[in-house]
Amino acid sequence: MTMELWIVILVAASLLLNVVTLILVIGLIRRNNAGAQAGAGPLSTAAASNSGTSSGSDLGGADSGVVFCRSCGSQFDSKLNACPACGTTR
Ligand SMILES: [Zn+2]
Repeated sequence: MTMELWIVILVAASLLLNVVTLILVIGLIRRNNAGAQAGAGPLSTAAASNSGTSSGSDLGGADSGVVFCRSCGSQFDSKLNACPACGTTR
């Protein structure tokens, strides 16, 4: 074998090694990103549930006041089960 052939084989082998290490590093980075997203997932859902409960309490406060009839649109006390104008139940 000539010297040039050996050099070509060495260069090709080093290129292959570079490609393999690149693929491994990209796979590790993708795994880390997925883990970070999974870790952030429960936190974001907990924050969403917290905001949901707060808005639910706000709705509960509004529910004890005046409501609009979904049929005729007239206002009436939320303690009433049916609209006094048209009789539509809530
Ligand atoms: Zn009504």
